[in-house]
Amino acid sequence: MKVARNTVVEFHYTLRDDQGETLETTHGEDPTAVLVGHQNVIRGVEEALDGKAAGDTISVEVPPEKGYGEIRDDWTQRVSKKYFAKPKLLRPGSVQRINTDKGERSVTVIKVGSKVVDVDLNHPMAGKTLHFEIELLDVRAASPEEVSHGHAHGKHGAHH
Ligand code: ZN
Repeated sequence: MKVARNTVVEFHYTLRDDQGETLETTHGEDPTAVLVGHQNVIRGVEEALDGKAAGDTISVEVPPEKGYGEIRDDWTQRVSKKYFAKPKLLRPGSVQRINTDKGERSVTVIKVGSKVVDVDLNHPMAGKTLHFEIELLDVRAASPEEVSHGHAHGKHGAHH
């Protein structure tokens, strides 16, 4: 079976930046399982997966416009410390997850005050060209339930 909209693809990947430094990898951990066609992965990866099959390996370079976007200047915000799970661990330059009205997102801490924190809302990988090595392990049709939820279930997908 080939990767297409509403298939679930299971894969290992390694993500490197332009300098060849590894930013993320699933090797040594569980592979990731993704429902294709529901914006669960960045566009550049979804396009690279399209039409591939289990056993294929892909090497793809993803420019910012198909990844996490270009860096927006002055896209900063002052946020109350209460929105951070571990306010004591806040340090300038650290990447934190916060809850917003559009869901959880990663931000980079710029400055820490006594009650508020200035953060950069650009995704930590914005502006970067991303180099993915992807190893496809399995491709299967999604269940109707997965399609209605918009994500993969099962061993390496969502558990609920
Ligand atoms: Zn679900």
